[in-house]
Amino acid sequence: MAQINSRFSSARELAKKAARQPKARLHRSLKSSRRVACKTNGIVWLVFLGSVILALPTQVVAQDSSAIAEDNQQVKGSRLLQPSSFGFKIPVAQVLPNDLGNVETIDDDEQPVVAKSYVKVGENYVVLLPTGQLVDRFAKQVKATNAKFEPTDPKVLARKVITENLGRFSNIKTHFNAAKPYIFIYTTSENFRKGTEKILVSMFNGVRAYAENMGMETHKPDVPLVVIMFQTQAEFQAYQAMPQGVVAYYDMVSNHIVLCEESPLLNIRPDLAQGQLISTIAHEGAHQILHNIGVQNRLSMWPMWLSEGIAEFFAPTSFGRSMRWKGAGDINNLRMFELESFLQTRFIEGVDGKTIRETVTAPRLDSTGYAAAWSIVHFLSRKKRRKFNEYVTQMSQLKPMRGMVAPSGEPVIANLEHFHAFFGEDSQENEENMIDYLGSLDYESPVAGFVHYVGLVMVPEGDEMKRYACCFHTQQKVDEWKSVLLKKLNDTQVQQAKWELKRVKNRGAANSIIRRFIR
Ligand SMILES: [Zn+2]
Repeated sequence: MAQINSRFSSARELAKKAARQPKARLHRSLKSSRRVACKTNGIVWLVFLGSVILALPTQVVAQDSSAIAEDNQQVKGSRLLQPSSFGFKIPVAQVLPNDLGNVETIDDDEQPVVAKSYVKVGENYVVLLPTGQLVDRFAKQVKATNAKFEPTDPKVLARKVITENLGRFSNIKTHFNAAKPYIFIYTTSENFRKGTEKILVSMFNGVRAYAENMGMETHKPDVPLVVIMFQTQAEFQAYQAMPQGVVAYYDMVSNHIVLCEESPLLNIRPDLAQGQLISTIAHEGAHQILHNIGVQNRLSMWPMWLSEGIAEFFAPTSFGRSMRWKGAGDINNLRMFELESFLQTRFIEGVDGKTIRETVTAPRLDSTGYAAAWSIVHFLSRKKRRKFNEYVTQMSQLKPMRGMVAPSGEPVIANLEHFHAFFGEDSQENEENMIDYLGSLDYESPVAGFVHYVGLVMVPEGDEMKRYACCFHTQQKVDEWKSVLLKKLNDTQVQQAKWELKRVKNRGAANSIIRRFIR
């Protein structure tokens, strides 16, 4: 219990600290798209609201790591992580080859238990308890054993999670399916539970098959996968305080995903709320699956762009009446939607490779970064498939307590070095190819049925009038697009340009206006 409590209080402190942090610089595209990710303290969380939030990670890189001999068996450029950044109390030390298999130790109730040693940090260990929780144990607290590791029985595990963490909530329900790896502990409606179960179960098999196809070995989860779901934001926050706007997370220490049925977007963007909710379930579900089938080691920190991009890659969902998981690697409509203004303005601005360089080295991602990360993963998986598979396979070798991270706030240069080695050094060429490819994708806009705004411009160029057009779901986006175009024009062009703005009932109508205008 003590360890659980201390970990939770450190997460709480972190959330408070995050709330006190100055707001990060507002990226232009963030004004309407509101999804931000941050990964810290072993928790991968999602934010949909708030201007730009950001929880700055605690210092995850071991401060004295330079004094510790680096292991050249590790993925090049990876750094040692602080055990304390996961809430562990064992001291910082080199990660050593794990010399123990199953071990006798005590659980959080101080009862003897057979656990699996997970990682050796100096003389001490992090071990996997039969509940799925990772805990730190000093060398003297573990003893090798030949006894079998038995995951906790799902019903016993659910009861334990409820007793230890959910005692203050009434009307908690549980749901198991013996054939499936999931345990649901929830206060949500039955419909939400059923919908979530359908998405996660179909994803589980699909993601595993896809990873095998990429050439990676996978295995069944060692423990049941726990999904905790709250009906309201108030319950979600009462369970574990999170910065405002966080709606879901995967905790790689407890191995739980935590979700909320009530979407804070409902009052702000009802058109997007349900699609975002479904997408969030799939996104966190992807993190949990990848960390439990052997693709991503728990306590290892992949490059942010790959970790989040691949979760989005594995998590596309469809909208409308049949909200469902579409299949690994399918087009992610929400991310394409977020990329719209990027794609439409890049046509005017030109492409210089900066988006790829900045996304790949980003220590954390804002909303546009998220979409960019998805687009890079999607592009590489389609157009540089063999290299992409090799790259992901290499990252899957990244050991626990190692990360592709940099000291707080600095870009992760090692990520770009890997990127160049696998995918070529010419970021501009890669970005041009990526944008061409994305532009060719036929995607289903989540707001296709809503009002759209069309911007039409004729600009004198020599003897001709050159035509530009755009369409967005808000007038503000058209204005932003226009200001990008204005910067490219000379004074005469600005004076003589003919601008027109049209408001139409849906995206189809907008597209047909553009087709007629451009032709
Ligand atoms: Zn994520």
